[in-house]
Amino acid sequence: MAPPTTAKDNVLDAIVVGAGFAGLYMVHRLREAGLTVRGIEAGDGVGGTWYWNRYPGARCDIPSLLYSYTFSDDLAEQWQWSEKYAPQPEILAYANHVAHRFDLRRSFLFGTRVTSSHFDDAVKRWTVVTDRGDTFSARQVVMATGCLSVPKQPDYPGVDRFRGKSYITGLWPHEGVDFTGQRVAVIGTGSSAIQSLPIVAEQASALTVFQRTPNYSLPACNRTLTAEDVAAFRTAYPEYVAMLRMGQSFIPVFPRDFEPPQADLEAIAPALWNGDGLLSLVAFPNLVRSERVNAVAANYVRDRIAEIVDDPVLAEKLTPRDYPIGAKRACVDTDYYATFNRANVRLVDLRETAIVEITETGVRTRDETIEVDAIVYATGFDAMTGALSRIDIRGRDGLALNDVWADGPRTYLGLQVAGFPNFFLITGPGSPSVLSNMLNSIEVHVDWIADAVLHLRDRQLATIEATGTAQDEWVAHVNEVADQTLFPQANSWYIGANVEGKPRVFMPYVGDNYKQRIDAVAADNYAGFVLSAG
Ligand code: FAD
Ligand code: NAP
Repeated sequence: MAPPTTAKDNVLDAIVVGAGFAGLYMVHRLREAGLTVRGIEAGDGVGGTWYWNRYPGARCDIPSLLYSYTFSDDLAEQWQWSEKYAPQPEILAYANHVAHRFDLRRSFLFGTRVTSSHFDDAVKRWTVVTDRGDTFSARQVVMATGCLSVPKQPDYPGVDRFRGKSYITGLWPHEGVDFTGQRVAVIGTGSSAIQSLPIVAEQASALTVFQRTPNYSLPACNRTLTAEDVAAFRTAYPEYVAMLRMGQSFIPVFPRDFEPPQADLEAIAPALWNGDGLLSLVAFPNLVRSERVNAVAANYVRDRIAEIVDDPVLAEKLTPRDYPIGAKRACVDTDYYATFNRANVRLVDLRETAIVEITETGVRTRDETIEVDAIVYATGFDAMTGALSRIDIRGRDGLALNDVWADGPRTYLGLQVAGFPNFFLITGPGSPSVLSNMLNSIEVHVDWIADAVLHLRDRQLATIEATGTAQDEWVAHVNEVADQTLFPQANSWYIGANVEGKPRVFMPYVGDNYKQRIDAVAADNYAGFVLSAG
């Protein structure tokens, strides 16, 4: 580990925490504008999500051509994706390419975790402390800490007693894992499990999948990108970027629309199976607002599961029936349901039994002990607030973020929290965030934050801070639009239901025209924020 930084490096314009796609672009924007910036990243390299999640089958489920930065035409022109949905190593290579191309690594401290960030009103600066003893003073702090960056730790009794190998999908060993000939247990059936199970099943001698809630998954129909695909995208690219700048996106946050007649809905349902994945879901008008629309899409997927899975009893266990499609994050897979037709794969339905403990040799349920050589915990993340709650963040007058958020996160526009001047969140709760193509949302937030910081600098202003009133109104609006949807009907990580004791609040913003709204706020001299003189 490198020694702590020296005092002369430690007084900065801005600290950016995290070196995922958000942190990389944030450092780039601020540095290009002439600010002194330090990025701090817990991992030993860039890439965030794509640095940590190296489990077999990990890949994006937004098409790679869209899951790309748009801030640099040269970057977009020169980077070539190999597949419709690029695999994790390629997305990580892209993050490394960006870091290299824009010379970003020199601004980051790696292998370093931020432990606290305190605001001192007297000097209007933040003091940021790390786990290796650095202390920084910065005017601005940007949390690019990720919405899905804190994997849940398994908490079954006996976890540490297990003598085989244990893995967490979100903390996968860099050297890879070969399950050939092993008896493997996978706990969880979310996106990470759904991507990895078909590959683990090919290697393992026996695979036991522990399912708590069945999931809706759409086929990826992944394939190599052809020269024609790329040429067509390049032709459409200027228009695509123009749309993004105007606040439109190919992954709109579940558009509100008219409700077509049943026959029209049934006619578009087969598109769910054409490989457009999440794009085909958001093509269903009013999917997350109308039970009738939702039922058409959900039933279409249920019928496909019944067709694919040979054993009807097993098919029924794998079929989600008690929540609307899209209300939990839908998945995109390659051969997920078909994997259960394999002789070496078994499903344990945790609605019929329960895991009691992990023993030295396996997983004990109420009914039996299943002996395994390896356990994969694909049990998800402390989403959206987990990384922030693990840092001691204190704003004006020692106000602790964890206290302010004790009943659930509260933000103004998903960008700031009242009482925390010059403190910004990227894709924070109260913004479209995890409901969108996150690379687009990251760029929208980074640009907004960079513009706000430069606005302060150019006018020699000291701070920008959301007002309590603006925050209250925004939180009420976020809740109001969420309550008009079917999202509250599922026990999802969107509402914190996957973490025991976490307040149940729908965290992302599912309303319309988000970018137009935040741009209008900036244009109106940052309405809802107080800008104070130095
Ligand atoms: P992250 O990539 O999570 O980076 C945050 C970084 O902050 C991490 O590296 C973490 O180590 C660091 N950090 C956190 N706390 C601290 C601290 N205290 N000190 C120092 N460093 C800290 N989104 C899509 O739109 N499309 C997809 O197809 C898609 N696929 C996904 C697949 C997986 C397996 C997962 C888990 C998520 C996926 N997502 C997808 C969401 C994905 O998280 C975002 O697309 C995007 O990569 C987030 O980038 P980020 O920089 O905001 O956060
Ligand atoms: P997840 O969606 O939260 O899934 C976790 C799974 O583990 C769920 O099936 C959950 O069941 C189960 N689980 C959790 N705790 C459990 C327990 N104690 N006992 C038994 N089962 C338990 O997590 P994830 O699969 O890592 O995905 C998280 C998000 O990351 C996704 O929703 C998506 O946004 C993103 N992601 C995307 C991709 C992609 O395709 N590009 C891949 C991976 C992840 P319940 O449903 O009952 O809680």
